[in-house]
Amino acid sequence: MGRAIGSLDWTPEYIVPVPMKPSQARNRFEQLLQFGANHFDEDIEVALDGLGCIKEIENYKQKNPLERAEAIKGAFTSDFTWNGAKILLIDDVHTTGGTTNECVRVLTANGAGEVRVMTLAKDQRVFARKTCPACSRSMKIRVNHTTNVKFWGCSGYPTYCQNTEDSGT
Ligand SMILES: [Zn+2]
Repeated sequence: MGRAIGSLDWTPEYIVPVPMKPSQARNRFEQLLQFGANHFDEDIEVALDGLGCIKEIENYKQKNPLERAEAIKGAFTSDFTWNGAKILLIDDVHTTGGTTNECVRVLTANGAGEVRVMTLAKDQRVFARKTCPACSRSMKIRVNHTTNVKFWGCSGYPTYCQNTEDSGT
């Protein structure tokens, strides 16, 4: 995982895991992160308590996406004031995206400057995503067909947001 993070074209200041239910305070995922913390650059801080889960969600797997989105509202909290920090949010299972979206929302509401999501699948493949710093919508890699240069474009384009970001490639 350290290698996966090292291969990103972007260095986070904090690594925050998607929090577990209060009843699952400690799990293998957090242990992995704690262990991995020694392998990151010194200026990357693993903040295991960067997000907290304050609400048990019953029967989450039985719910449809709309019910899940409703159930997840207010489930997470962050005691940190992030002061514009760059945060890599790590999820170990990517389900509907509702959980990670809510985590991104809470982090941004607490002052995070930029949040990207990395999902650690069983095979440790990496899915990097980027959240628009201007409007918090997700961004997608797009290609300028004239110059062939890749860039991040906001998914709110063109109606809500015209922000673009350098993709670093
Ligand atoms: Zn935007």
